Amino acid sequence: MKTIFLTELQKLELGKSPKPEIKKPQDLLIKMKSVGICGSDVHYFEWGRIGRMVVKFPYVVGHECAGIVEDVGKGVTRFKPGDRVVVDPAIFCGKCNQCKAGRFHTCYELEFLGTPASDTSKGLDGCMKEYIVHPARSVYHLPDEMTYEDGALLEPLTIGYYSIQKGEMKPGKSVAILGSGPIGLSVLTCLRFWKPGQVFATDLIPERVQVSREMGADYSFNTSLEDSTAKILDIEKEGVDFVFECAGEQETIDQGIELLKPGGTLVLIGIPEAGRISGDIDKLRRREIRVQNIRRQNECTQSAIEAIHQNHTNLAPLKTHYFAPEQAQEAFELVKAYRDGVIKAFINWD
Ligand SMILES: [Zn+2]
Ligand SMILES: [Zn+2]
Repeated sequence: MKTIFLTELQKLELGKSPKPEIKKPQDLLIKMKSVGICGSDVHYFEWGRIGRMVVKFPYVVGHECAGIVEDVGKGVTRFKPGDRVVVDPAIFCGKCNQCKAGRFHTCYELEFLGTPASDTSKGLDGCMKEYIVHPARSVYHLPDEMTYEDGALLEPLTIGYYSIQKGEMKPGKSVAILGSGPIGLSVLTCLRFWKPGQVFATDLIPERVQVSREMGADYSFNTSLEDSTAKILDIEKEGVDFVFECAGEQETIDQGIELLKPGGTLVLIGIPEAGRISGDIDKLRRREIRVQNIRRQNECTQSAIEAIHQNHTNLAPLKTHYFAPEQAQEAFELVKAYRDGVIKAFINWD
């Protein structure tokens, strides 16, 4: 089968690998239809590692995907060949104490599509290939009205959904989203299900500021052109109830602390490049700010699919670029350079 290999730093090549086979009774063989390019995929492309996870070439990246079931293991009852599906890239053991506590996303044996080996995991190839075998437990039905690209988008959208739930968002509360890339826009897209008060969004890229308006922000600011913190505090004089930090920068973390009213919640989703971050402890303490870290998502895929499907949520502004597998190199270079107003680019298999 055709497979997109990362053969060295910054180099993708379309090659061949053996078609995977169903080995366990709960496995599904899924033909890939659409794969979204994530910032983390591009990070492996550019740097060959994220923290302790180091790529050994050749390697296959990709974890945001949707496809069609081609075959099912003997024990599978929930799916049949021909079903259109969304893949949750996480595979957990179901037996460890984290899994028993319902914290599947921090499973001690967790494997994740397109995540290389580290000291704590064996590593797993990604889904930039024609077929994958995946446990049925981590697969969900894609509603007929949703496209395969919508299905691939569900991975980041679910992180947005989970972050809001985990942050304990309540209706009517004011929100600032700092960083309007795919994750920030996923938070924004899902926020409407919680009926928020004023929603502010910021970014440095003009197209992303524009898309955040289209996706429902009441006010969007370009931080490179204006003092967004001052502007937000001009409108919400006491500060906002929730900040979703989606850039992973010290600067946006500092802005978030500045923006929160007493009792507010700082939800940290962005992945900092730096090994450490800091915050103004005087403000954090005096305002009794709650800080919630986010690790991907846990058990929110079905809820996110249903909310988006039932509300006929328009995902069009998020889907900006489509490529064939032969164009993977071009696609990754575009995403890496944030060129041409890219939000989410997809690689589509026939
Ligand atoms: Zn992703
Ligand atoms: Zn486990």
